Amino acid sequence: MPTRGASPNRVKLHHSYSIAELAICCGVHKNTIRHWQGRGLEPIDKSRPILFQGATVRAFLCNQRARRKRPCTHGTIYCLRCREPRQPALGMVDFLPMTPTSGNLRAICSQCEAIIHRRARWVDLARIMPGCTIQLVEA
Ligand SMILES: [Zn+2]
Repeated sequence: MPTRGASPNRVKLHHSYSIAELAICCGVHKNTIRHWQGRGLEPIDKSRPILFQGATVRAFLCNQRARRKRPCTHGTIYCLRCREPRQPALGMVDFLPMTPTSGNLRAICSQCEAIIHRRARWVDLARIMPGCTIQLVEA
């Protein structure tokens, strides 16, 4: 299965792995290891059998994991349908207070028009949603 299930910490740093060993260690199919090679996982050298250094594998997996994360930059809310951070349509955002200090931002995705949500603290509103019109919505 995808890299998602492969925990970098299962790979021993000072161990070298064949493709088969690495597949077992990470709980993935051998073809997945070849796929990782295509995405930049480097073997120790060009000799056969192909061996991977544990430290290299772990760095690769950590890197892949970091790239999958899509942090929301200021002015965006993550859209589950687009799977991307998106700007609110027309720069309009509702704020629904949940606690005395925080609440939920609610807007419409500017790309696909799905409802998008983001948790936010009162004090952060102007900073994380610059240029947006924020409307307070009482429960
Ligand atoms: Zn969207």
